[in-house]
Amino acid sequence: MFTRILIANRGEIALRILRACQDLGIGTVCVYSEADQDAGYLKYADEAICIGPPQAAKSYLDISRIVSAAEVSDVEAIHPGYGFLSENAHFAEICQSCNIDFVGPPPEATRILGNKARCRELAKKVGVPTVAGSDPIDNEEKAVAIAREVGYPVMIKAAAGGGGRGMRMAHNDVSLVSGIMSAQAEAGAAFGDGSVFVEKYIERARHIEIQVLGDRHGNMVHLGERDCSLQRRHQKLVEETPSPVVSPELRAEMGAAAVKLARAGGYFSAGTVEFLLDPHGRYYLIEMNTRIQVEHGITELVTGVDLVREQIRIAAGEKLSFSQEDIRWNGVAIECRINAEDPDNNFRPCPGQIGRFFPPGGPWVRWDSHVYSGYVIPPYYDSMVGKLMVHRPTRADAITCMRRALEEIVIEGVRTTIPLHLEIFGHTHFIRGQVDTNFVEGYFAKK
Ligand code: ADP
Repeated sequence: MFTRILIANRGEIALRILRACQDLGIGTVCVYSEADQDAGYLKYADEAICIGPPQAAKSYLDISRIVSAAEVSDVEAIHPGYGFLSENAHFAEICQSCNIDFVGPPPEATRILGNKARCRELAKKVGVPTVAGSDPIDNEEKAVAIAREVGYPVMIKAAAGGGGRGMRMAHNDVSLVSGIMSAQAEAGAAFGDGSVFVEKYIERARHIEIQVLGDRHGNMVHLGERDCSLQRRHQKLVEETPSPVVSPELRAEMGAAAVKLARAGGYFSAGTVEFLLDPHGRYYLIEMNTRIQVEHGITELVTGVDLVREQIRIAAGEKLSFSQEDIRWNGVAIECRINAEDPDNNFRPCPGQIGRFFPPGGPWVRWDSHVYSGYVIPPYYDSMVGKLMVHRPTRADAITCMRRALEEIVIEGVRTTIPLHLEIFGHTHFIRGQVDTNFVEGYFAKK
């Protein structure tokens, strides 16, 4: 096992990894930008190193600064968390070449599975269902022909995309051609790779993703699904497991498909295979996230598996300590992402200083957050304040518990998404489990 790890991230996930390291008895080095110099979690690290100015490109995304910090602090491994460099195969390779273990998948696997177009290609090869669509587009006429063949509306997606960037919907030939051009430009600027492809738009879909975990010795399991259908602008707001619409048989089938794909791509570590599930119960791969996900905690609650701890053990070469048959799913866990956003202003990020603050707690509640009274949410990074999770034997109990926790939190000084979550948790369609990926947007359109 490692004796010292560098955490190449910030905020709640840096704190989550710090906690896993402490539980494992591993020393920690945190890196931080000037915008995070007062962050409270830094005091839990054995060493904290400033790596540059607030802009992510000059700090958390700057490979040379992070690797230099790792070398001077003499760590054996780097945990990238999520976002920033977590899905950057080049970064993983540089770590390897410096004799530092990367807590994540091998770079060759990220290059295939972390690219939406290549991942689709591999899925087709191994018989995992994909959404009907095209290969990367090299000419517009071909794209129009494919869109007509699969039928409008279609999605235009960046192969290297993530976080909704480089993604457009098109309802006809004209919006397809202009959408391709703007998606290519956006993806080129954001990811340095402008290649895009077209996919049929699946109506009234649910987002169902499967957590996988594999070691370097060829053992791989799935830990069931998370239903992330509650989204705004294609970004997740609420996640739950198990999904109210996934039967044990469907879980086993989708789990096996996810493991088959991950294995075929030479994957190890924690990863998530994302699918859309249509109203007829058919599922289609959309992508794989080759890292720990924001919403990993609800899977931890129902399975009892500490995913971050497992990631670290796997990176150190240890074997999975359980097999598929050992995994049991207990009760229902739900997560709300609490963001500093202004609901009255089109959910514009709302950075600033937190005034009076009272965290949620009590029985069945898990609050993963790095904020406290007086903390200043910097404007440079994402706007997440914390992840509120609950775990109860039934979904109805979990909803009641979440309402209690949402009503308890006090966060003054910044606007948050808490009022939106309270509305969702009081909505009959959500309570009955009858939602799809358009539920939140549809609800606001009607308001
Ligand atoms: P990103 O990596 O940018 O987050 P994803 O491919 O994961 O993009 O898709 C994000 C969300 O967009 C999905 O959860 C779903 O709501 C919507 N989406 C993506 N592809 C499709 C599709 N083919 N049909 C319908 N909705 C889609």
